[in-house]
Amino acid sequence: MRADIKVEGIVQGVGFRPFCYRTATKFDLKGSVKNMGDAGVRIVLEGEEASIKKFLKVLKEDNPPTSRVEKVETDWSEETSGLQEFEILESDTEKSGRPSVVPPDTGLCKECYQEMMDPKDRRYHYPFITCVNCGPRFTIIEDLPYDRERTSMKEFPLCDYCQNEYQNPADRRYHAEPNCCPNQGPKMQLYKTYGSKISSSNPIEKAAEYLDAGKIVVVKGIGGMHVAAKTTDDIVLKELRKKFDRPEQPLAIMSRDIETTREFAKVDSKEEEILTSNRRPITLLEKRDESILSDLIAPGLDSLGVMLPYSGIHYLLFHHGKEPAYIMTSANLPGLPMVIENSEAISKLSEKVDYFLLHNRKIVSRCDDSVLRITGDTPTFLRRSRGYVPTPIETDSEKEISILALGPELDNTISISKGGRIFPSQYIGDVENVETLNFLKTTSQKFLDLFGIDEPDIIVSDLHPNFSTTELASDMAKEAGLEPKQIQHHKAHVYSLMAEHDLEELVCITADGAGYGEDGTVWGGEVIMVSPEGSERYGGLKKYPLPGGDLATKFPARALAGILWEENEAERIEHILKTYCKNWLREGESEVIIRQLQKNLNTPMASSTGRVLDSVSCVLGICGERTYEGEPAMKLESAAKSGRPEKADITVEIME
Ligand SMILES: [Zn+2]
Ligand SMILES: [Zn+2]
Repeated sequence: MRADIKVEGIVQGVGFRPFCYRTATKFDLKGSVKNMGDAGVRIVLEGEEASIKKFLKVLKEDNPPTSRVEKVETDWSEETSGLQEFEILESDTEKSGRPSVVPPDTGLCKECYQEMMDPKDRRYHYPFITCVNCGPRFTIIEDLPYDRERTSMKEFPLCDYCQNEYQNPADRRYHAEPNCCPNQGPKMQLYKTYGSKISSSNPIEKAAEYLDAGKIVVVKGIGGMHVAAKTTDDIVLKELRKKFDRPEQPLAIMSRDIETTREFAKVDSKEEEILTSNRRPITLLEKRDESILSDLIAPGLDSLGVMLPYSGIHYLLFHHGKEPAYIMTSANLPGLPMVIENSEAISKLSEKVDYFLLHNRKIVSRCDDSVLRITGDTPTFLRRSRGYVPTPIETDSEKEISILALGPELDNTISISKGGRIFPSQYIGDVENVETLNFLKTTSQKFLDLFGIDEPDIIVSDLHPNFSTTELASDMAKEAGLEPKQIQHHKAHVYSLMAEHDLEELVCITADGAGYGEDGTVWGGEVIMVSPEGSERYGGLKKYPLPGGDLATKFPARALAGILWEENEAERIEHILKTYCKNWLREGESEVIIRQLQKNLNTPMASSTGRVLDSVSCVLGICGERTYEGEPAMKLESAAKSGRPEKADITVEIME
C-alpha cells in the first residue's frame, strides 16, 4: 500500500521530520517526508497497510513534545513505486495552501542542559546548545520553510561534528536547524561601555562576577536583551531605576530555580507548572512577607514577576553567579522597543549600564518575555509574547478572507487572520513614537510574508481618530485600494474573547482604562452584547467629566473630582482634594480643577473603570500619581488583598 499524507499544525522546526523518519523505520516503511513551504509537512509511505496505520496512530497520538498536529489528510492507493528507503527530502519552497505554523522559541530542554553541564561533553558550558526540542525558532527565522539557510544561523556553518549529528537520523540533533557547537557556532563577548572589548576566556563567568559586585549588565539572550542586576541590593536597584527613569514600575526577575523562588514567593502547583514549562513566561507570584530580595523590585505591590532561566546563557550566569535571582527587565529606553542589535545597545545604553554581555548571532525578530498570572486555576495572559507567539488561535471564522488588524496604541500587538487561524504578534509596545510604529510596520509585513498573504482583504484599526495605527491602517488600505475599517476598542476586546473561547454570542462587561467610544466619549466600563446579528452597547458606568483629559490619567485626583462632580457641591470636592489628595496636587491646583469643571474646559466625558479605581486608590492615600500603566489600580489591588474583608453597605443604582 501507499499513503500520501498531509499534516498541518506546528510541524516545522519541532523535530517532526526526524520523528517521521524514526517512526517509519521502526515500522519498516519506505518513503519520504518534507516540509511544504508554508503548508505543513508531506509524508509518503509505502509498505504494509497495518504498519502505515500504526504510523498514523503514532503520528496523531505520540508526536514530538513541541509539535501540534492539527489536521492529517491521507490518500491511499494500491500502487506503489517500490521505494527502497525512507528519506528526508529538501524543503519545498513553494508557498501554498493554509499558512503553516511557525514554532515559538522554547526554553533549553533537560537533555541539552545536562550536556551543557557535563565536563566531558563537547558542548560543556556552551550556551548556544540546542536540539530539535528546544531553543530559538521564531526569533531567528527570516523566511519559510524553516531551514538553517533562512535563519540567522546561516552565518555559522556546521562543523564536521555538527554536520554528522544533523545528518544522523538516530541523533537528537537530526535536522535541528540551529545546531552548533564551540567550533564554529556563535560566541559570547563582553564589552565595556562604548564598545571596547573585554578579553576573557569565560565572558559569562566574568559578567556574573560583575553582577554580583553590583554592576548593571545588558545581557543578550534569545529573542531579546535584558538589563540585568542584583536583586538583593537597594543601592543597585535605586541606581537602575534612576538611570532608566522607572521610579516605581515593577521589574521582572529571573530566579535561579523553583526551590529558590519559594524562598521569596508563594508558588502553587499550577504556577510551578507554568514557570517550569518550556515556554518559560514571567509569572506573577505572591510575595512572601519575609524575603531576602529588595523591596524596590516591585514597590507597593504584593506580587513579583518571576521567570526561570530559559537559555544556556541564563543558566550559566546562575552557575557562575551567587544571587538568588537577577533583575531581567527588557533592555529598552522609556517608551521605545527593546534593543536587539549589538551596536544599538552599545550606542544607546552605554550611559545607563556598566557592561554588555553580547553574542554574535543576530536576533531577527524581537520578542519580549510573556507575562502571565494564574486567576483561579486558569493562566491569564497579561502579555502573550515569547514562547507563545506566533502560535495561532484556531477559529471557525471566515476561512476565505485574510485580515490585518493593527490594534490601538498602548501595549499593542498586531494580528493577522488567514484560513480560520488568527496569529497575534509578539508584544510591540506603546505606538506613540516613530521607533515603535516602525516596529509595528515591520512586524505586520513579517507576519504577512511568513503566513503567505500578499495583500490582506481587510485592514482594520481602532476607532480612535488620532491613533497613529488608525492613520497607518487608513494609508495601507488606500494603497491597497481597500476601504479602511475601524472597530470600537471594547467591542474588539469582546470579539477577541469570543474567538479565544469559541463563542457565538456574548454579553460582556468590559472593565478597562480607556478606549474611544462610538459616541466620541471615553469608554471603559461598558456592557456590550455581541451576537451573529452584530454588536451593541447596552449600558455602562455613568459618564463623568475628566478635568484635564489625559492629565486625569496621570493624576487620579482629577478623575476623582470629575466622578464626584454631579452629586456634590464644589466646596465639598475641593475640601476632599485638599484633605486626601494634597500630596499629589500642586499649590492652587484644586481650584484650577474646580474651575475647569465649572467652565467645562478640556473635560471630556468618560465611563472608564480604570479611572474609578485610580480615584479610589488616590483618595485612600495609596497612589495619586501614575508613573507606569495601571499603577494606581495595581497598588489598590495589592492594598485591598492585605485588608480585612468586611461587608460594606453600598447600594448600586441601575439607571435607565
Ligand atoms: Zn534540547
Ligand atoms: Zn559544530
